[in-house]
Order: sequence, then C-alpha cells, then structure tokens
Amino acid sequence: MDFSLTQEQKLLRSSVREFAEAEIRPNVMTWDEAQHFPQELLPKLAGLGLMGIQFPEVYGGAGMSAVDYCICIEELARVDPSVALSVAAHNGLGAAHIAMFATEEQKQKYLVPLAKGDALAAWGLTEPGSGSDAAAMRTIAVKDGDCWVLNGSKAFITHGTSADTLVVMAVTDKSKGPKGISSFILERGMGGLQAGKKEDKLGMRASETTEVIMQNCRVSPAQMIGEEGQGFIQTLQVLDAGRIGIAALSVGLAQGASEAARDYTAQRQQFGRAIASFPSIQERLSEHASRVDAARLLTYRAAWLKDQGRRMTLESAMAKLYSSEIAVRAAEDCVQMHGGYGFVKDYPAEKYFRDVKLVTIGEGTSEVQRLVIARQLLAA
Ligand SMILES: Cc1cc2nc3c(=O)[nH]c(=O)nc-3n(C[C@H](O)[C@H](O)[C@H](O)COP(=O)(O)OP(=O)(O)OC[C@H]3O[C@@H](n4cnc5c(N)ncnc54)[C@H](O)[C@@H]3O)c2cc1C
Repeated sequence: MDFSLTQEQKLLRSSVREFAEAEIRPNVMTWDEAQHFPQELLPKLAGLGLMGIQFPEVYGGAGMSAVDYCICIEELARVDPSVALSVAAHNGLGAAHIAMFATEEQKQKYLVPLAKGDALAAWGLTEPGSGSDAAAMRTIAVKDGDCWVLNGSKAFITHGTSADTLVVMAVTDKSKGPKGISSFILERGMGGLQAGKKEDKLGMRASETTEVIMQNCRVSPAQMIGEEGQGFIQTLQVLDAGRIGIAALSVGLAQGASEAARDYTAQRQQFGRAIASFPSIQERLSEHASRVDAARLLTYRAAWLKDQGRRMTLESAMAKLYSSEIAVRAAEDCVQMHGGYGFVKDYPAEKYFRDVKLVTIGEGTSEVQRLVIARQLLAA
C-alpha cells in the first residue's frame, strides 16, 4: 500500500493551488455578494484542463485519474467552494453522463466542446416535487412521430441558465417505474427549453442554480442517451462517481476552514497570549486536522476504486457522508474559534459556514447516503 502522491500529482496540487490563490481568492467575496457566476474564469480553468479533468485526451479532455480529479476539486474548494461546485457539476454530472453512456457521434458533438471548456454542462434530475425520491419525477417525454416531446420542470439545476448542453431525465413509460425513465441531451436555445427562477442562496452563491422548464420541447431520437428506459440506471452510476467529487469538495472546504482557524488562533491574542496556546483550541485544531485526513483517505479510496474500474457505490457513499459531515463541523468550529470575527465578512469563516451546508444536501443528502450504505451492507 502506497499512500504517497506521485510527483505529477504533487505538481498538479501546487499548480491548482497557485491558480486558485491568484485568480480566485481576490474575487471570492465580490462574487459571493453579487451572486455572480464567474463565467470569465472558464477559459482559465480550461487552460489548466479543469473543464475536462477525467475525459480522454482524444475527446479534448486532460485524461487525468479520479484521484487527480479529487486533488483539483479539493484545491478549488479550499479557496472557493462555489467554483469547485460548478467545476464538479460540469465535469462530474453533465459531461460525465455523456462520457459514460453516449454514442461516439454524441461524444464528438457534445463531449469534445465540454471537455475543452468551449461549452458548459448542466444535469437535470431534481424536480420541485422529487429530490431524494428522484424516480418519482414528473417530467415526461412522449413520442410524437419521429420526435420526443418533453414537458416538465427541473429544480436547483447548477448552470440551468448558462449551460450550453443539458442532460435531463424524463419519464418515457410511466408503467415501468424507474425502468421507464430515459435521458436526453438538450441544447440551450432549443424551442420549448428555458431557464426559470435563479435561486437566491444561503451559500455557494457564485455557483448558478436555476429552475429549468421544458414546454413542448421537441427533440430528435438522436438526443436520447443509450436506450429507452436506461436513464435511471445511468443516473445511479453517474451519482456513484459524482459523490466522490462532492466528498473531495468537502475535504477541500474543511481543509480551508481548518487552515483559517489555525492561522487566526495563532495570531489572536487574549489573556496576554495567542489563543492557539489554550488546550481547548489545540484539541479542536487537532481533531479537525485528523478528521480532514480521514475524510481524504476515504475519498481517495473511492477514487482509486473508480480508477481500477471497480464498483464503489458503498465507498463513494461513505466518503461523501463522512467528508460532508466533518466539513460542517470544521466550518462551524472555524466560526467559533474566530469569536465575533467569525460572524463578519472580513474573515473567510462565515463564508465557509454558509457554503458548507450544501455538501450534506447536494447529490444525495446525508440521510440518503446512509440508506445507500445500509442497503449495500444488508445485501452483502
Ligand atoms: C446548490 C444546489 C445545487 C444543486 N445542483 C443540482 C443539479 O445540478 N442537478 C440536480 O439534478 N439537482 C441538483 N440539486 C438538487 C439536490 O440534489 C437535491 O436538493 C437533493 O437531492 C435533495 O432533494 P430535495 O431538495 O428535494 O430534498 P428532499 O428529498 O425533499 O429531502 C428533504 C429532507 O428529507 C429527508 N429525506 C428524504 N427521504 C428520506 C428517507 N427516505 N429517509 C430519511 N430522510 C429522508 C432528506 O434527507 C432531507 O433531509 C442541487 C441542490 C442545491 C441546493
């Protein structure tokens, strides 16, 4: 067993860190307050290969591994979790669905521009009435002559307005339950497809989240991914891998919050000495550092299994559950260790605290992760 990163991985970590410190850190609070999704950053992210991290080079991607992917997402989240969320949604949901299940022709048409960063992806599963119980979706696709006609709406879609390419799930045969769900590729500007309300969020405010509405949206059969009825099975596999990304995002966020707490407590003087010299502060700093490391190991294990082409439903759910829960505690304690300064916007603590709550909700809540884990344990 070798726990060390390769030279290339160490270099990758330092170049993404350098980029995040130089290009993202100075803008974090401006983007957050304006709820500005920084599309101007996308060409720079693409320049580092971050818009096509794991996609093969023949499709314009960077051909990196799942462990490399974790390193990239961690380093972005350490500085700005919103940017990391957008990169993870683009790479790990919309584009990943196409990379995993689309035909060669669909990959040439859609994956290549996505992987190069010339286009942005979104993925539409959640609806106003169905989140954890995703199979209860009501968006329908009905055959009309040669075409499919989609009607319905999707909620909380990352890049719902700005995406060029959207993968959406819709019911094509209600009588078959989850086996009657299919997936389709939609393009921005198609007749009948429009973005709805942009959400005004607690955190992750620089990542765009909107409703997506389909009203008699007609698409050719060439827009279906895989066979009719395979959409839900595909979704479960996309989520297995996608959760590794949210686990890595949680690790990066917890790392950032822990470092902010360490730096602040080392310089803040009370009772004539740095507060980091008090045993209760040291206890918390060391607990968070240990938890972040444990979360990182769980996350890298799930990523390593993915790289081996092995199943990782159990391991990715464990990584997502543990990492997101410890990140919430790290961010909360970061505020606490800053005292009143943790409650104001001059320090990064309050933003980590607002951003972090998403990680126990998105791509399956903590309760859903526990269901997935229990199902795997009981089936063993
Ligand atoms: C910022 C943001 C970005 C997002 N991006 C996307 C995206 O790009 N694409 C997309 O498709 N979706 C996206 N989502 C949606 C997200 O995946 C859902 O919000 C999430 O899956 C939870 O669904 P819900 O909000 O409907 O909550 P619900 O499913 O209604 O859950 C409410 C509560 O009930 C609990 N609960 C539900 N069922 C059970 C059960 N069986 N046992 C115990 N507890 C249960 C949940 O854990 C939760 O605590 C995004 C959400 C946010 C906030």
